[in-house]
Amino acid sequence: MKRGIAAWALLLVCVLAAAVIGLLAPLEAGKASREAAQLLPADAAWRAALPADPEAATAAYLARIPAAAQQRVNAYVDGENALQFWGWLAGLAVAGVLLFTGWSARLRDAIEARVRASGLRTALYGALYVLITSLLLAPLAVYSGFFREHAFGMSNQTLAAWVTDQAVGLAVSAVLGALAILVLYAVIRRAPRSWWAWGAGVATVFGALLLLIAPAVIDPLFNTYKPLAAGEVRDSILSMARANGVPANDVLEFDASRQTHRISANVSGIFGSAAIRLNDNLLKRTSLPEIRAVTGHEMGHYVLNHIYKALIIMGVLFVAVGLAVHHISSWLLARYGSRWGLRGLTDVASLPLLAAVFSTVMLFATPVTNNLTMSQEIEADIFGINVAREPDGFAEVALKLSEYRKVKPAAWEAFIFNTHPSAYDRVLMAMRWKAENRAVLSPTPATAPSAASSE
Ligand SMILES: [Zn+2]
Repeated sequence: MKRGIAAWALLLVCVLAAAVIGLLAPLEAGKASREAAQLLPADAAWRAALPADPEAATAAYLARIPAAAQQRVNAYVDGENALQFWGWLAGLAVAGVLLFTGWSARLRDAIEARVRASGLRTALYGALYVLITSLLLAPLAVYSGFFREHAFGMSNQTLAAWVTDQAVGLAVSAVLGALAILVLYAVIRRAPRSWWAWGAGVATVFGALLLLIAPAVIDPLFNTYKPLAAGEVRDSILSMARANGVPANDVLEFDASRQTHRISANVSGIFGSAAIRLNDNLLKRTSLPEIRAVTGHEMGHYVLNHIYKALIIMGVLFVAVGLAVHHISSWLLARYGSRWGLRGLTDVASLPLLAAVFSTVMLFATPVTNNLTMSQEIEADIFGINVAREPDGFAEVALKLSEYRKVKPAAWEAFIFNTHPSAYDRVLMAMRWKAENRAVLSPTPATAPSAASSE
């Protein structure tokens, strides 16, 4: 058994080392200074001189992204895409360590020797499983979450603050993971043949509850939320909310700059309430038209009920994924179960196997889930631009988001990896909208005589 442990530990170390080596090349490119990658500035005169043709106006916008910035973001995104693969492989290696060394079975036995209640045993195993796998995968997490983000100038959070955030996140994951695993195995034990169908329903309900409690319970663990000061920005956003059926009385600001330089916002809430939340990077780094464009997009997600739709679609997808996980896991258990010391699918010690198979099936489903998200993002873009009526603000934000999204990825790449339209897609959409809405954007004053006005 000792030899087995050493072999699996060696494999895990090799996978993690290969991941870091494979990811170092793109990391080098990120060291190009942030300044060299800055967008070329533009003012009202520049915007006024933009060509009327949408394609030409889009080219003018994209020409403001320097070559150094394009190289930097291409390296950043290539590394991020590669990380999905390395993360999956490292996860498989961890599952291999837990199963082939018999650690999973021994952990179960150790808990059974000390705890009597069956539910508590399962939950305890679940919490320890989350902690152990997170610790084994910590090198990859430190690389991707800390060193890489700093190398690309995406964050200036101190290591101590980052580790604190991770520790809080891990504690939350352990509690929620224990609960989810408790429920999952309760379902498997009740319905050993059809658990995957019930499990999909339970996962959907669990996801909905998580979305419900996250803004109030989880998000404040990482950031401070406070009402946005009265003024032009707040008035403008609340006006957009009233005009578009978003039941929000307040706008919140949160200190995302603690962790990242990224700009973002969200509109959350269900059951007839809504919270509009803007991150401080957005407020610091963008103008009012850009803030309106971003908030209009986020209101689109809310008004179009994207969360409910995504939950239902994921529920359906999980039925298919669960069926695959059930069959593949049952086959592997029949072959290797006794060697791993597992008593079957109802045994909580089979969790590393279920997790490995689930992550593999989900990896292959990535283009499906990404394209589902993409379709909602495109809807929210269209909703947002019609609500905010700020095509140039929208285009400007799209340029800023190309700090971490490729400007114009290849079609195959976008199909597999992308969840959001590229800067090219978004600027072109905005410029087309602008071309078709010139009359709305600069209405002829009613009092002024004009040849263009008509009844
Ligand atoms: Zn969105």
